Amino acid sequence: MAEKFAENYKKRFVNPYNFIPLMEACSRSAPTAEFEDCYTGYFDCTIKLLTPLFIPNTSSSSRLLSEEEKRNEKCKGEKWKGYDFYSYDDWSSEEWEGKGLPLPPQNPAIPGSEIRGALRNVFEAAFNGCMSSVSVDRVLSERTNKSKKHPACLGREVFTKTIGDLLKENGGYDPCADEKLCPACQVFGMVRKSGKGKTYARGSKIRVTDAVLIDPARDGQGLFEEPVVLPELGEPKPGTVEFYTEPPYGQSEKWKKGQGFWTYDYKYKAQNNKNPNNIRILSAREPKLRGRKYYWHSQVDLEQYRGNQLSAMKQRIRPMSARGRDEEPLFHFRVYFERLNRTQLNHLKWAIDFGNPACAHKIGRAKPLGFGSVRMNIDNLYLREIDKDTGIWEMKRETNMENFFSHPVGTSEALRIVQKMANWEERPRNVQYPSVERGAPGTPSKINETASHQWFKNNKKGGYFMKVLPKADEDARKNLESEKALYTYTKNKN
Ligand SMILES: [Zn+2]
Repeated sequence: MAEKFAENYKKRFVNPYNFIPLMEACSRSAPTAEFEDCYTGYFDCTIKLLTPLFIPNTSSSSRLLSEEEKRNEKCKGEKWKGYDFYSYDDWSSEEWEGKGLPLPPQNPAIPGSEIRGALRNVFEAAFNGCMSSVSVDRVLSERTNKSKKHPACLGREVFTKTIGDLLKENGGYDPCADEKLCPACQVFGMVRKSGKGKTYARGSKIRVTDAVLIDPARDGQGLFEEPVVLPELGEPKPGTVEFYTEPPYGQSEKWKKGQGFWTYDYKYKAQNNKNPNNIRILSAREPKLRGRKYYWHSQVDLEQYRGNQLSAMKQRIRPMSARGRDEEPLFHFRVYFERLNRTQLNHLKWAIDFGNPACAHKIGRAKPLGFGSVRMNIDNLYLREIDKDTGIWEMKRETNMENFFSHPVGTSEALRIVQKMANWEERPRNVQYPSVERGAPGTPSKINETASHQWFKNNKKGGYFMKVLPKADEDARKNLESEKALYTYTKNKN
């Protein structure tokens, strides 16, 4: 018997990620050496945790397994994992001999690469960079004349559509691959093989140090939460077009019910989703990808993970506590830069602090669950200047940063959405993955089907998508109309 699920209007949710839109076109140019407009120096920065943070020390995947678990046959067979927080310690050959789980690391750190990655993401999104970390060769659809999965009229053509192709066709946001570079690659550097086998590379103009405790003797105490086992993250993949792409319908093609139906290859024409004659093949530039994936901030309730048991798909971790010492930052790090022009320096500064103290970055693991919201603050800027009297180069502290960075960075739609999604103070309150609620207790649920998977199944009614992912600024609205907002599906009583 078919199950009937309906939207539960009391249970609205905001999907953990949304997308920063791409602009008309990625702007690229050949980097030029400038001698007048040229800055070298560093930012002194601090980090304050807003939610628990986890970055694994990958030298051992069994550090946080109990003796009992290690003896368990299932643990060996399924390769259960338990990671401690990141530090320079190498646990690969070290066995914990005390009782229970090991003590936390004495000197935890946040790797500079982790911070650098977050800065680059924001820089690319806000200042019209390429999508440097996307897997361009990821195949979104593959049709051959042997395929019988699709309706007959799709038979003949043989082609593949990749993420790289779609980005190329929509403003050229595929990663830079020749001498012309986007604003982000000019600052952060790049290495890429072009199609003809030639490799292009450009060195980075910035270096980010690891973030270490400001005062290890004092801050080292009570830094960590008790280890917890995180649930499996069943994150929808780009194949879910209703979340990852814009509906390929014009204003005149609106469906009376639902949002239409499409894949990366074809769409059904408006209002007729039964007849195969109403299928339209999409062009090389459709459907348009929504943009750059970015996670909302949300609160973490560690209590809900306390009783979780380990399994093949679940890991034990030791999160760093967001409580910290009073309200002060815990870590400091530096961002060194070399030969940036004023605009690039302006942009780099914005990528660190968003020009708005309400905003925060997301770093580390388990971002969809709310982990890793951190506020980065710039305490000081040092610039290399020549001493007019002695002729010697030295680092001088810029005493009036506000004045130095008084030029606005721009007002693009993308920048506005970055600021919206990064806003910690105005974060949505109900962030979670799509899920369904079973009706009566004891209703069997299919193994290997996550709640999220079931939501997407229920969202396809009668051959069309009931809902698509709302745009980021829509989804942030508390009073978003019910036709657009996402709700949990609940089993109908009758
Ligand atoms: Zn680039």
